[in-house]
Amino acid sequence: MPPAHPFDDDKLHEECGIFGAVGVKDAANFVALGLHALQHRGQEAGGIVAHDPEQGFNNARRFGYVRDNFTSQKIMETLPGPLAIGHVRYSTAGTKGQTAIRDVQPFFGEFSMGGAAIAHNGNITNANALRRELIERGSIFQSSSDSECIIHLMARSLQRNIPERMEDALRRVEGAFSVVAMTRTKLIGVRDPLGVRPLVLGKVGDGWCLASETCALDIIGAEFLREIEPGEMVVITAEKGVESHFPFRPQPSKFCIFEHVYFSRPDSILGGRSVYETREAIGRELAKESPVEADLVCPVPDSGTPAAIGYSLQSGIPYAMGIIRNQYMGRTFIEPTEQIRNMGVRLKLNVNRALIEGKRIILVDDSVVRGTTSRKIKEMILDAGAKEVHFRIASPPTAWPCFYGVDTPQRDKLLAATMTEDEMCEHLAVDSLKFISLDGLYRAVGEAKGRDKECPQYCDACFSGEYPVQPADMLAQGFELKPAAE
Ligand code: SF4
Repeated sequence: MPPAHPFDDDKLHEECGIFGAVGVKDAANFVALGLHALQHRGQEAGGIVAHDPEQGFNNARRFGYVRDNFTSQKIMETLPGPLAIGHVRYSTAGTKGQTAIRDVQPFFGEFSMGGAAIAHNGNITNANALRRELIERGSIFQSSSDSECIIHLMARSLQRNIPERMEDALRRVEGAFSVVAMTRTKLIGVRDPLGVRPLVLGKVGDGWCLASETCALDIIGAEFLREIEPGEMVVITAEKGVESHFPFRPQPSKFCIFEHVYFSRPDSILGGRSVYETREAIGRELAKESPVEADLVCPVPDSGTPAAIGYSLQSGIPYAMGIIRNQYMGRTFIEPTEQIRNMGVRLKLNVNRALIEGKRIILVDDSVVRGTTSRKIKEMILDAGAKEVHFRIASPPTAWPCFYGVDTPQRDKLLAATMTEDEMCEHLAVDSLKFISLDGLYRAVGEAKGRDKECPQYCDACFSGEYPVQPADMLAQGFELKPAAE
């Protein structure tokens, strides 16, 4: 398993990426490429299940990067057939940081009507309660993953085919889920009724594919057809194509607004617009809301780059790569020792001293989580001779944990949960610190009137503390929701 990055805990992490293909020769090869394009959504482990009419179901699950496992001919030869699904994970609920291979998806279940495999992106917020109930009724769990509940709920359903059993199971599940699943002949895709996590449909040759993001369609030359709707289930076969239906009670959509800010790749399309364009628009909004006199706008690479360009275009202040990222650092660095840890950010980022010296710098970053990285970057910029450092952040203060499939520290570890903006500015010892407002963020993602306070158009719980689905398991463990009047 790749070791955790020394300062990896100062970012939020999407926990999974999913991909499926049907009606193509050696579908597992397409899945491997799709997962490779989704590697930013999970680097800890990956798995593929494939079905071949002669050889039946086969699977391979490995720790580490897709490119280090699923490029091997020896592995890919074990995954023949025209239908396959796959999953990459960061680290989901359960054994965080000490994952066993049995926690690596897709999960497989053998039912009376045949086998089925399932891969899940999101988080089931009532998984503890479901697991307790299922164990009391005789289910034997193989993993610590919340997603395995879906397989056990399917096993208990009395429906006669797998898609209907899946509907039954998913009606019991609360929280966020985008799912790809497969039987011997069908590729199935489902999004939860709120559509919190993404899922898109593509066409590749005579076949079809489902992916977390459109960048995974591009890599295999698939045509992007559309997003799977919130609450929609598609059942796809090579013969009949796509059959769609809506098995859940309709609810207002609550797509994760942070996908626009950070999680999705900038070359993906969300809500009909490129993520890159949206991030540039966020930078423009930020410049309108929080102007400051300065000499250069610099991104904290890579995710702050489009917003920094937007800030520069709007403000007229020149843009420059004041910080250079070591592209090859990644997570494959040697196991971090204490000494290496102390080097912290310098392992990954270096200041372009010739540009910075004597200048007033605006640094644009996507988010502030614990604040440890921001503080170190500021020190590096000042060490390089900057006259002033102004932070501009392309998301509102992250003050609440996410329970919908994003790895967040506990609330008391989030800088914005314990400090006001002014206190954070003082804590980071910068000349100024400004976050985009929630309304500004909504405008940048295309909501001209800003956030609808009565019924927000997106999930923004990590900023607002307003959770669209009650996090039942967390409430049972003592988590306190924001008081209504706060
Ligand atoms: S809480 Fe934040 S990160 Fe989680 S789904 Fe909602 S907007 Fe996305």
